[in-house]
Amino acid sequence: MWAEQVSEGDRHQRINLDKQPWSFEKVWRRSLKHTLWLGFAFLTGLTFVSYFYDMRNLLVDAYNFDMPMVAVFWVGFFTVATYINAGWMREQVCMYMCPYARFQSAMFDKDTLIVSYDEKRGDPRGSRKRGDEGTAKGDCIDCTMCVQVCPTGIDIRDGLQYECINCALCVDACDSIMDKMEYERGLIRYTTENQLAGKGWTWKRPKLIGYGLAMIAMVSAFSFVLISRTPLELDVLRSRGMLFQEVSGGYVQNIYTLKVLNMDKQDRVYNVQVTGLPDYRMAPGEPIFVSAGEIGEVVLNLLVNPDLLTQVNTPIRFEVQTEDGELQASSKSTYIGPRPIDD
Ligand code: SF4
Ligand code: SF4
Repeated sequence: MWAEQVSEGDRHQRINLDKQPWSFEKVWRRSLKHTLWLGFAFLTGLTFVSYFYDMRNLLVDAYNFDMPMVAVFWVGFFTVATYINAGWMREQVCMYMCPYARFQSAMFDKDTLIVSYDEKRGDPRGSRKRGDEGTAKGDCIDCTMCVQVCPTGIDIRDGLQYECINCALCVDACDSIMDKMEYERGLIRYTTENQLAGKGWTWKRPKLIGYGLAMIAMVSAFSFVLISRTPLELDVLRSRGMLFQEVSGGYVQNIYTLKVLNMDKQDRVYNVQVTGLPDYRMAPGEPIFVSAGEIGEVVLNLLVNPDLLTQVNTPIRFEVQTEDGELQASSKSTYIGPRPIDD
């Protein structure tokens, strides 16, 4: 149990170290602690960035001090944010920064399960020895263990407070005291306001039904997106350096960079074609191979006889599809040519 882990001995040792003058022991203990904090914060930073940058490459690049600047920035950002939030600010994040506590209070009603102190059973409070049954006191022996273990520093016996993050540390602490006193557990427990007042629980509540329906709608939408998701994406970038190039044979040429994102679990080969362009030639014309979970990048030259173009900017669409036709993706672009003679 947590209450036993965070023993008085540990607590006093920590406070004593704070009060001690600087010494070799204090320096190495502090240095070790902050090094470990920073180490875990760095791992957190890497994990976040790996959502957008392949983890194997990221680890290799980090080991070789060869990460791209954008990755260095975000790993550094998340490392510092984690170090400050988890190491220094801790419960301040829960109390003042996290929006969860705020909107949670709007979702409460008298049948919401929350950590509560059973005032009827616990009061009047007062210290006593184990087995001392001759007092007219409630079950709370006023040991303050529930207050000491609370990470947000509140006294749950004063009733529900917005600082409570429902971590239940006070429940474990109080249960351990109840065990020692040989009282029934649950003086602090998960319960509802109505149950504490001796009333029953019902599910027929407007908030519960409303939030239930909202949850069903969100899960349905999420499932639909998941099922209908295509594990393929195509990005097309037109070469910005030039409008078009005249090449041998009387053709004009536009250059494009295609990025094919294979989000599938297997390697894929994609065929490329262009719609909206008359009688074009493409170089290279071979299918594009992309490994599972990778991005394939290829530079394509599109050649067209300019006599067939009817406008300067011709809207076109690049399409990639797997050889079996199972997956396909497309992306719009523009083909730029010389002004048609008729204009
Ligand atoms: S549940 Fe956690 S935050 Fe809430 S009063 Fe108990 S120890 Fe404090
Ligand atoms: S831990 Fe339990 S017995 Fe001790 S003060 Fe808190 S409520 Fe009372």
